[in-house]
Amino acid sequence: MNKLNKRFRFLAADLAFAAVFTLCAILCVLVYLYQRDAQTHQQSTIQLSIAEHDVAYFSHDIGLLLQNIDESLKTILDTAARKPIQTETLQDALSNVPYLNSISLLDPQGKVIASTAAANIGQTFNITARPVYPQPSGSLLRIGPTYMGNDLADGIPLTDNAKSTPDKGFIPIIHTRQPNLSENTLVATLNLEYLLLRITSFPGISPAARIAVLRADGLRLFDTMPTDAGLLLFERETVERWQKGEINNRKELTTIDARHWIVADRLHSRLPIGVTLAIDRDDLLKETILKIRRNNLTVLLLMVIGMVCVLFGYLFFRHANRHQRERISRIEVQRGLLESSLNACTNAIVITKPDGIIEWSNPAFSALTGYTATEASGKNPGALCKSGKQDKTFYTHMWQTIRSGRIWRGELINRRKDGSLYDELLTIAPALDSEGTIQHFIATKEDLTQQKAAREELEIAHSHLNAVVENFPGSLVMEDLQGRIVLLNQNLFELLGLPGTEEYVLGKPVHPLMAFSSHIAENSQAFLDHVEELRAAGRPSYGEEIHFKDGRWIERDFIPIRLHENLIGFLYIYRDISQRKRHARELWQLATSDPLTGIPNRRAFFESIEHERARLTRYPDEAAVLMIDIDHFKQINDTHGHAAGDAVLCHIVRQVRKLLRGSDTLARLGGEEFAVLLPKANREGALGLAERVRKVLEENPLIYNDVPIHVTASVGVTIMSHTDPNTDKTLSRADHALYEAKRNGRNRVEIS
Ligand code: GH3
Ligand code: MG
Ligand code: MG
Repeated sequence: MNKLNKRFRFLAADLAFAAVFTLCAILCVLVYLYQRDAQTHQQSTIQLSIAEHDVAYFSHDIGLLLQNIDESLKTILDTAARKPIQTETLQDALSNVPYLNSISLLDPQGKVIASTAAANIGQTFNITARPVYPQPSGSLLRIGPTYMGNDLADGIPLTDNAKSTPDKGFIPIIHTRQPNLSENTLVATLNLEYLLLRITSFPGISPAARIAVLRADGLRLFDTMPTDAGLLLFERETVERWQKGEINNRKELTTIDARHWIVADRLHSRLPIGVTLAIDRDDLLKETILKIRRNNLTVLLLMVIGMVCVLFGYLFFRHANRHQRERISRIEVQRGLLESSLNACTNAIVITKPDGIIEWSNPAFSALTGYTATEASGKNPGALCKSGKQDKTFYTHMWQTIRSGRIWRGELINRRKDGSLYDELLTIAPALDSEGTIQHFIATKEDLTQQKAAREELEIAHSHLNAVVENFPGSLVMEDLQGRIVLLNQNLFELLGLPGTEEYVLGKPVHPLMAFSSHIAENSQAFLDHVEELRAAGRPSYGEEIHFKDGRWIERDFIPIRLHENLIGFLYIYRDISQRKRHARELWQLATSDPLTGIPNRRAFFESIEHERARLTRYPDEAAVLMIDIDHFKQINDTHGHAAGDAVLCHIVRQVRKLLRGSDTLARLGGEEFAVLLPKANREGALGLAERVRKVLEENPLIYNDVPIHVTASVGVTIMSHTDPNTDKTLSRADHALYEAKRNGRNRVEIS
């Protein structure tokens, strides 16, 4: 929701900016247009004033000119009233007015009777063309239509629309004493070229200006440029005003045929002439307007640059603002995360000002001390939890450490809100700003009560373990995965004959110990290789027997140690089993040998014969079994005594042994009954040996107490076959053969 609001605010700000920006842009354009028009108008107004001034000046000038001519002609006519006019008189007058081509005297019929130009004399001047038009009061000056030509002699009147030729044209100026022209008339011809020169030589007059001189009846006497239809209209309006008696002058900016004209006129009050001036404003001000536009365009460009700068500025600040907001938002998130983390922390955390006053504490602090965050805030933790168990120097040292910007850590006893004491591990870290000034202290408090109990438990467990290890009947050594000794008991030193040097203590590498052990083992390399194999396999191995060079047998248990399924080390337990081995061997001896003769007993013989039978089932071979029973042994006992009987039994063993191979087995099955197992013996071989046994006994009496004791034996032979289903079958055949030997008279050999 908040995010949406923010977005909406940004959008609204953007829209507002866009609206203001657009408004500014429109204003800029309007200002540009207004400025352009205003300046153009200002320039037009200036030009209008100049035009008015020009036209007034010219009108005045031409007025003076005409009046001057009029005065000259009047003087001549006044003279003529007294005496006839001579050409010299006219020439004298002409010399005073150089802008006239000629001065001629006409009779009432219009015939030139005297003239400064000889060619004019005798010419008839069209009297009907003498202008009749409303005459301003008090003047008899009349102005004829413009003529083209040098003078009256060759003058051709021009129509309204025809352009005069200044370099070859004139305007007749007529003066008469009577308005009805009944007397002689003077006609002066005004040089148009002179007029043009006069206009163009006016200082400041624009070459673009079209100046026309009109007569009161609307006839255009003179103009400086070709006539424009639109201007004709303007001239006509001028004349109409004039003819209505309105001689107030005007100046205005008017539009004719989409062209802007600066126009001005000046209507003479006393002479029948009016002067009009028209200038195409756009032509006149072309340069100026261009300059105005250029200037205004420059201003517009500057405004556009300004707007673009504003736009970029806005975008930049918007970006910077967004960046800043994002940064703040990130910081807020981080701060929230940090606070959540600190709140979730199981250790009590207290943040204090540099003077030690609590600013913030987490729930774990409340749980530890019993003070709520509000209760703790603004208090001094020392005063809040002080137990009095630490002396002043303890706190002095603490403050010295943290005020110097270092971290202080230590254990102390504090007091809860309920008054109970507890052990605490306190860590105080100063928080410095970028200039290294301490802004806060962050104290982390760890309740050591459980830790202490656990430590004590651990110590007890350790002492239990030590007691077990040291009193363990075997020798043991434990290594960790880094190959360091982590457990070792005294028995091991005694077992291996280890020197009590620094090399074989906890924490040292186990390798030298293993190397030492291997050297006393019968096969050093095998010892070490096997240790490596055990480690690699990581499985327990029990009762591995190792023969030492000194003849001892050592039994080893290998036990990998795991913590939560993870391997953390290996335990080696060594036990000296030499005595046990010896006992076992003796027991085996007892169990498998006959105590009187020392040869294998019935049990051992049965094992041998089973073993042989197993061999025969694998390899197609033969073997034989002899069953030997002493004949009438009871009588020997009876005759010579039991001890003699025993001696005879031993004698028999000695005699038979002489005949046997190393692989043959002679056993006493019981009483005076013996058996021989002959591996790899065939029928002939077995019978031959049986016969030799019988014979050696028969021929070698025992000399007992210097008395020869003769003894014979009956022998039953049988051949072992892999087809015999079991050992009993074989032995019963041998028994049967023995029985046959007894039955057939004893001291003989039978085979079955
Ligand atoms: P035969 O075999 O020829 O039929 O006659 P025998 O006298 O040998 O008969 P029998 O097997 O019945 O007697 C065996 C005697 O061997 C009986 C016993 O006193 C004697 N005897 C058995 N074990 C020992 C022993 O360990 N020492 C002595 N001295 N005599 C023993
Ligand atoms: Mg017997
Ligand atoms: Mg016998």
